[in-house]
Amino acid sequence: MTTDFSSLNLRDELMQAITELGYSEPTPIQSGMIPLMLTGVDVVGQAQTGTGKTAAFALPILHNFQRQKNPQALVLAPTRELALQVADSMIEYGKHLSVRVLAVYGGQPYGPQINSLHRGVDIVVGTPGRLNDLIERKVLFLNGIKTVVLDEADEMLNMGFVEEVEKILATTPAERQTALFSATMPARIRKLAERFMRDPQTVAVKRSTLTAAAIEQRYYLVNENHKTNALTRLFEIEPIHSALIFARTRAETSTLANELVIRGIPAEAIHGDLDQNARERVLGRFRSNQLKVLVATDVAARGLDIDDISHVFNYHLPDDAEVYVHRIGRTGRAGKTGIAITLLSPKEKRRMREVEALTKQQVNKMELPTAEDIAKHREAQVVEKLRIWLGRGRYKRELEIVQELIDGGHDVMNIAAAAIKISRGDEKQRPIAEISEVKDERRERDFSRGGTPARGARRESFGRKEMPGRFGDKQRVKGSRTHEEGMVRLKVNKGKTHNIRPNDIVGQIAFHANIPGHVIGKIRIEEKISFVDIPEDAVDQVLKHSGNYRIGKEKFSVVKAQ
Ligand code: AMP
Repeated sequence: MTTDFSSLNLRDELMQAITELGYSEPTPIQSGMIPLMLTGVDVVGQAQTGTGKTAAFALPILHNFQRQKNPQALVLAPTRELALQVADSMIEYGKHLSVRVLAVYGGQPYGPQINSLHRGVDIVVGTPGRLNDLIERKVLFLNGIKTVVLDEADEMLNMGFVEEVEKILATTPAERQTALFSATMPARIRKLAERFMRDPQTVAVKRSTLTAAAIEQRYYLVNENHKTNALTRLFEIEPIHSALIFARTRAETSTLANELVIRGIPAEAIHGDLDQNARERVLGRFRSNQLKVLVATDVAARGLDIDDISHVFNYHLPDDAEVYVHRIGRTGRAGKTGIAITLLSPKEKRRMREVEALTKQQVNKMELPTAEDIAKHREAQVVEKLRIWLGRGRYKRELEIVQELIDGGHDVMNIAAAAIKISRGDEKQRPIAEISEVKDERRERDFSRGGTPARGARRESFGRKEMPGRFGDKQRVKGSRTHEEGMVRLKVNKGKTHNIRPNDIVGQIAFHANIPGHVIGKIRIEEKISFVDIPEDAVDQVLKHSGNYRIGKEKFSVVKAQ
C-alpha cells in the first residue's frame, strides 16, 4: 500500500495544496482509492466520515480537471451540510487549479445557484432533490459529466432519495465513471451498484477502534413477564436497521414473532421446523431489508450468513457464556458499530458476571426508556421528519392547500399545528407498553420518574437523521448523573467568525482521534468559540489530539468546557 503522496503521481497543483494543508501521508482509503480512480474504473469505497474519504474522490477528480463548457464532475450528498463540506474540500484541494465548484441544496433560493450555473461551473455538489430541480429547469446540464460520486450512499437511501438518485444517474453520460461511498453496504446499495456501475472495484476501510470495540453491550433488568413489553419500548427508541432476537425454544420464537407483529413490528421466526425453502425465503426478505426483525434459536441461527445486523437481542441470557459471545458476534460487522442488548430477569443476574468474566468486558446496565422518554422521542421524530421535508421543500400542492386555508381565514400557526396533529394520529394505535418495577433491586430507580432527552434532540445543527451511538448516548447509564447520556462538553477555540462548521469539527475529531463520526454529539457554534459533546469514554482520546485539529490551514484546539 502507498504510504507517500508523491507516489500517487498527482499533478503539481494538487501536491502543492496537499502540502499546504499539512497532510503528510495518504490515509488507507486514499492510498487504495486514488490510484484506482485514476485508471478510470468504477469504484465502491466502504468508508465513513473521518477516514479521509472526501480527498479520496476529490483528488482524482481534480487531477483530471480540464476546463470545459458544462460541469465535468457531479457529487451527490444526502444533506446540505455534507454538500457544503465536500464543496469546500474541493475548493481547498483545487485552489491552485482555479476550479469552479458549486454546492446546491434545497431550502435556498434558486437565483444565485442558477446564476452561478450560467456563469460556468466545473464541479457540482448537491442534494438529489435540488439537483433534479435544476436539471428539470434546464439550467444544469450533465452531458459533459465524466465522474459521478455518490457520497454517503446509505444515508441517501435511508432518507428516501433512491428514485432521485437513479433519475440523476440516468441523465448522465453512460460512459461516465461512477464512485460510490458508503459506510455500510446493505443489499439496496449493492443493487444500486449493480444497476448503475460497471464492474466496480471495492476499497474497504475499517477503523481500528471499531474492530476492537465494535459492539456496544448493554443489559436491561426486567421482570420475566414484561420482557416483550421491554422489547417493544426499545424498538421505539433504538435506531434499528435489522435485528436478530435470540429465544430459547422453537415455540418461543413463534410466540415472540407473533406478539411483535401484533404490536406493529414486522418480525418472523426462524427455527428448525422450517424447510429449506421457507428458511431461504425468510432470510431473503431479511437480507434485502424487507424484514427487519428475525427471531431465532441458536441452532437455527447457525450458518446464517448475514453481516449487516445492527442489533442482537438476547431475550434470555444463554446458559453458556460462550454462546453469548457467539451471538453478539453477529453484529458489529462490515465496519459498522453493533449493539448487543440483553433482557435480564433478576434471576439471570448472577450469570451476567460469568459473561463479563469471559469477555473481559463490562456490559453496561441501562434503564429502559420511560413512557415519557417514548412520548418525547415520538415528538422528536415528527420534528425530525418535518425538518427533512422543510429542507427538501418539495410540497407545492400542500402549499396551495395552506393558502386556501389562509384565504378561508385560518391562522398559519393553527394550520401547522393541526397538520402535525393529523400526522400523529397513528400514535393512538401504539399504546406504550407497561413495565413493572423490578423489586429486588435495592438501588433501582423508579421507572416512571425522570426522562431522557428524546433522540433527535442531538445534532440539530446537522439537520440530518439521528444515528446510532456506540457510547449509549440516548439512555441513562446508571451512576452517570452529572452528564446525562454519558457525554462530556468540550470547548473549541474557533467559532462563526472563523467560519468553522459542525462538519469541520466532526471530520477533524473523527479523523485524528480515530472515533466514529456518528458518536459525536451536539455541536453549538458561537461567535468566537464552539462546543461539542463527546462520549465520556472518548474524551481523553479527543483531548490528546487537540494539537492536530485544523480548519483549512488554521489549527483549532479542544479543551474541557468549564
Ligand atoms: P473525511 O473523512 O473526508 O470527512 O476527512 C476527515 C478529516 O481528515 C478532514 O478534516 C480532512 O481535512 C482530514 N484529512 C483527510 N485526508 C487527510 C490526510 N491524508 N492527512 C491528514 N488529514 C487528512
